[in-house]
Amino acid sequence: MEANPNIKVTPKGFLCILCNVNLPNLPSLGQHVKGRKHMTLSAVKETRKAQGECSVFVSGIKPDISQTDITEYFQKFGQVSDVIMDKSKGVFAIVQFTEADSTQATLSCLEHRMKGLKLRVKPREKKDFKLIPKKAGSENLQQSLDRLKPQLCQLASVDAQMQYVVERFQLGDNEKKARELLVQLLQEVFVEFFPDSQILPFGSSINTFGVHSCDIDLFLDLENTKVFQALAKSTTEQAGEAMSDDGRSEDSILSDIDLSSSSTNEVLELVATILRRCVPSVHKVHVVGSARLPVVKFHHQELNLQGDITINNRLAVKNTRFLQLCSGVEDRLRPLVFTLRYWAKQKQLAGNPSGAGPLLNNYALTLLIIYFLQNCDPPALLTVDQLKDMACEEEECVIEGWDCTFPSQPIAVPPSKNTEDLCPLLFGFFTFYANFDFAGSVISVRKGRALPITDFLSQNKAEEAMHEEKPTKTQPHGPKLGPLILLDPFELSHNVAGNMTERSHRSFQRECQDADKYCRSLQYQRKSIKGKSWGLVRLFTPHGDALRAKTEQLTISIPFKLASLPETLRNELHMAGDGFRLLWFQKVCSAVEGVFKNVLRCDIAPSTDAVFGQDSVVDAAGEMETSLNTSTNDSFDISESQDTAVVGAKRRLSSGSEASASPQGKKARMTKMRKPELPHWICAHKHMVWAGRRRVRRELIKDTDCRPEGSCMELEAQVTDHIIEKEPELKETLEFKVQPQMVGETESTKTVLTLEPTSDKTGVFHDLFHFLEIFLPKMVETLLEKEAARA
Ligand code: ATP
Ligand code: MG
Repeated sequence: MEANPNIKVTPKGFLCILCNVNLPNLPSLGQHVKGRKHMTLSAVKETRKAQGECSVFVSGIKPDISQTDITEYFQKFGQVSDVIMDKSKGVFAIVQFTEADSTQATLSCLEHRMKGLKLRVKPREKKDFKLIPKKAGSENLQQSLDRLKPQLCQLASVDAQMQYVVERFQLGDNEKKARELLVQLLQEVFVEFFPDSQILPFGSSINTFGVHSCDIDLFLDLENTKVFQALAKSTTEQAGEAMSDDGRSEDSILSDIDLSSSSTNEVLELVATILRRCVPSVHKVHVVGSARLPVVKFHHQELNLQGDITINNRLAVKNTRFLQLCSGVEDRLRPLVFTLRYWAKQKQLAGNPSGAGPLLNNYALTLLIIYFLQNCDPPALLTVDQLKDMACEEEECVIEGWDCTFPSQPIAVPPSKNTEDLCPLLFGFFTFYANFDFAGSVISVRKGRALPITDFLSQNKAEEAMHEEKPTKTQPHGPKLGPLILLDPFELSHNVAGNMTERSHRSFQRECQDADKYCRSLQYQRKSIKGKSWGLVRLFTPHGDALRAKTEQLTISIPFKLASLPETLRNELHMAGDGFRLLWFQKVCSAVEGVFKNVLRCDIAPSTDAVFGQDSVVDAAGEMETSLNTSTNDSFDISESQDTAVVGAKRRLSSGSEASASPQGKKARMTKMRKPELPHWICAHKHMVWAGRRRVRRELIKDTDCRPEGSCMELEAQVTDHIIEKEPELKETLEFKVQPQMVGETESTKTVLTLEPTSDKTGVFHDLFHFLEIFLPKMVETLLEKEAARA
């Protein structure tokens, strides 16, 4: 690889200093530098560098000097492309030229005088371009915990620790008061421009789960303003005058916009203008129009408060009331939410700083806690449907077609029979989600139970098609299918965790598993008499992932990614009902074998014990189906019937699609099958077919369409053939074992491949492994698509 100033060679491989990522070998480095993040950062770095070379720092200006004054003055040294001024103080500016020569000309001028001021002009300081430093972020997490630790350690119980977390982080009275005053101020300003409008706070500022410095979420309700505007319009038309009934002239801001026909973003732009011009101390105002719910973001300097204003968010105001109700009904909810929010923050599982991102949001995390409490035995919270039955007539409420009825006061809800302490409840939360079948369930807080995912598998497609035919705003559609499907309690077609990625979801469940294990230890439950960390302290310690990674180095996971499966396969899985996991696993195994055999040209053989006659193969698959259907605990253990995984897949490859249908009724014979060694493939490579693939691929597709790695089976097979033909053989054949295992039923479904070298005299196995980690899941996806297209 040509010298890249962003890449440093380290004893462990390479370090990309731009993205702060370690790469173990050349293939992974090659992948990394082609990745979106690296490309974007490189481009930003280059742009910044170029801007730095073309700009100067100017000080000594006064607040009354405008951007135009500065542009006019510096224009004599070259074309000025931009002037960035320090708005709040008006004392310095950065002048950017289109050419670097202009910078030199400016700097070589000894004196700069403009409008009677003597300006000081300096070159721009050269600052290293840095991504938000990962290390500093983690230090903050550790520092935050270090500050909390002494107090937590000296408390007597986990329950007391949890209560302490609430006291330590909850919004103080002054903070609440300051927020109320801001709301009042905004109300006064907005009502001037939008008569009869109302500004309503929602979210953590008022839902009882707010922590210091949480943002302030506001809903600007313009319904009455619309009515006002419609009335004013008709009155004006009737009178033929240019004046509204309250005397507002036609050039009032409201006359610029027709609320009934304007787009959300147009209205939000207006809201942003009002904020910028009329609300003191507010800055960094901008509209985020691309969000699911477009929003105006701002920052209040004096209160150091981040704020969001939305205009189409009546449901959020209602779900905030719902959270308030739950908090009022169940005292233990607040300590649980505060503790789990802090835990999730420390483990980098929740809270997307800019609003968008792949992590759980705090609202979704709170709903997961509520769902867990609904599922305790006896339940600690009622379901939304049960709460609805306790509401009185005046509390009936429908918003955008969704039933949002529930009692307004906690007093209407009888106390629960569950009397567990906080300590076991927290432990229970981790156990519950450590073993939760996310892949097979749609979590419904409304029903208080998981709905089978199979009900949603084909529905999405059908509704998408319907939507295309008759698109209407209110048309119902299915929830976004992702690794975690958590339905909103009211907007039942909305997956509140739809932003999560496989990775963020996996981290969440893994951290729950780690926490579950830890909670079983005495260190969690009993105070250390030697003053050591105990209880919540160890639970909150960041970086669980790094330790775990060491033990998981040689496994490759292929998660069940519903959203990216081809439609025909989705339908097939839907038809398989409860057996969908088995069917999917068989198809993945078949694809894995296809990649090794037909793409990477491995010499591949199943383990001798896994070679059965066709009859046994069918039986074996039957047994696996039985295990899956009847198992109620933990992950599917391949040691029981692992042959079936491999052999089932083999049969699938060799005898066409009917082989994967569930062979019901052939279970009896299986019981007599001998117990073999865990089945696996033995693979052998004589060539390093993983090295230099990018170069070969580039050569092969020089004059054709550029295809990303792993997107085309034929091309990848050609790449392998080319390497085998042109590159020398390895001195010793590399041999390794691949064992597939399906983890499913009570955990997220995934195929885990364990790789182990059986003969690696040339020491290349790790390079191959790192290559496969990225290549294999991608190729499997491609093969599944291909097979589905063929079906
Ligand atoms: P914090 O701001 O402290 O992270 P929050 O509860 O205010 O917590 P926000 O992300 O600011 O979380 O969202 C504000 C409110 O908007 C939530 O309390 C909830 O009422 C609503 N909300 C947030 N995310 C969703 C979502 N994915 N689906 C439906 N409503 C949501
Ligand atoms: Mg908020």
